[in-house]
Amino acid sequence: MTATSMDQLVSLCKRRGFIFQSNEIYGGLQGIYDYGPLGTELKNNLKRSWWNSMVYERDDIEGIDSSILTNPSVLKHSGHEDTFSDPLVDCKNCKSRLREDHITENKCPDCGSEDLTEPRPFNLMFKTNVGPIEDGSNFAYLRPETAQQIFTNFKNVMDSTPHHLPFGIAQLGKAFRNEITPRNFIFRVREFEQMELEFFVKPGEDEKWHKIWTDLRLKWWEDQGLDKKSIELFNVPQEELAHYSKATVDIMYKFPHGLEELEGIASRTDFDLGSHSKDQSDLNISAKVQENTKSNAKLAIQDQNTKEWFVPYVIEPSAGVERGFLAILNEAYSVEDLGEGKERTVLALKPHLSPIKAAVIPLKRNNEELVEKAKLLKNELQKQGLGRVLLENSGNIGKSYRRHDEIGTPMCVTVDFQSLEDGTVTIRDRDTMEQTRLNLDQTSEHFKQVINT
Ligand code: ATP
Repeated sequence: MTATSMDQLVSLCKRRGFIFQSNEIYGGLQGIYDYGPLGTELKNNLKRSWWNSMVYERDDIEGIDSSILTNPSVLKHSGHEDTFSDPLVDCKNCKSRLREDHITENKCPDCGSEDLTEPRPFNLMFKTNVGPIEDGSNFAYLRPETAQQIFTNFKNVMDSTPHHLPFGIAQLGKAFRNEITPRNFIFRVREFEQMELEFFVKPGEDEKWHKIWTDLRLKWWEDQGLDKKSIELFNVPQEELAHYSKATVDIMYKFPHGLEELEGIASRTDFDLGSHSKDQSDLNISAKVQENTKSNAKLAIQDQNTKEWFVPYVIEPSAGVERGFLAILNEAYSVEDLGEGKERTVLALKPHLSPIKAAVIPLKRNNEELVEKAKLLKNELQKQGLGRVLLENSGNIGKSYRRHDEIGTPMCVTVDFQSLEDGTVTIRDRDTMEQTRLNLDQTSEHFKQVINT
């Protein structure tokens, strides 16, 4: 089987309504995308799967949903104002703006010229005005990561939930980065979603938990359908670590354009909670934090035995929804040779991620009896609460099967004339293309089994 190309995925996404260029009718907006009917379902399924594994299947993690607009003080004390930048160079020949660390052999990738400016730091944060007066003083940032609002809410969550260390706060939502060169479809964009966990532990237990979370996250990606062979772990070298990190392991995936970061698992020590705490002098913070914080909170925990205050360490698994989406599509997509010059495109998604869980197809679109029976079955399957079920009334059974193979629907149910006589339907399996007949009253049970595998 040949490797899937980015062009194949882009074309599928557009053709079938997974992803569209944002603002397309006005020429688009670079590095920004919209999700169509199927893309929205797949994205929601992926996020739900993450939320289930983080919040519902554990007893030591709470979820929050914080604001996107962020007080500049938060991002000053987190270090983002000073250091959240990429090295920018300009090509003097073709005027392209480039990220220096993405250039090879000191040549402009667009025109080949070596006439480049010296690199200068370019801060990636978007600013916006808050309130009616635009004098530059009333601004907020669009958050560049969801993490900081988890740290600023640490005390709120600790005070309102009955947790002791180790415990975590999970958040899922939009983040914004003014990337110098957005590229590779949805891999590097300016508006994206992150799935982030901040898992707080006692100082000294951080290395153990770093390893535990790396293993858990690897297993989760495999459960979403990524092949172990397409994944590598990368220990980020000391000199490349972000300003807050003591150690970072990146989960790298073989995207169509190369091996790149899918998720980062960082050991952030006490840097963030320490930076946002008042009275830092009595807290014994190990990381070098900004002094004189304007915060009025002490983001620390009192040891019940010694009565001493300490700032927890934190392990942060941080994954991008879009990169996950792209990896999952890449893994699931294949073009199968059916012999005699025929082929089919199939998206072998794990059923819990499939945008459409089942399609119910009346054999003839104008036959009222068939359509009515199909509608009743569709409603019954929909009521199972397992995700979207579609009444596919296009009238062409072959085309319907091909469409649903291509969008990853695990199961098609055809209502035909025999159904009217003996109450059976045809169930077609996406992966094997096998067709079996089943009694109508067994269809719901079979559906549950297919989706929960
Ligand atoms: P990169 O080195 O590729 O720019 P990063 O190390 O800056 O990524 P993090 O700050 O660790 O990324 O962000 C956590 C996750 O958020 C990444 O692993 C990635 O999945 C996602 N992410 C970060 N930047 C983008 C982006 N511009 N577009 C899409 N996803 C992103």
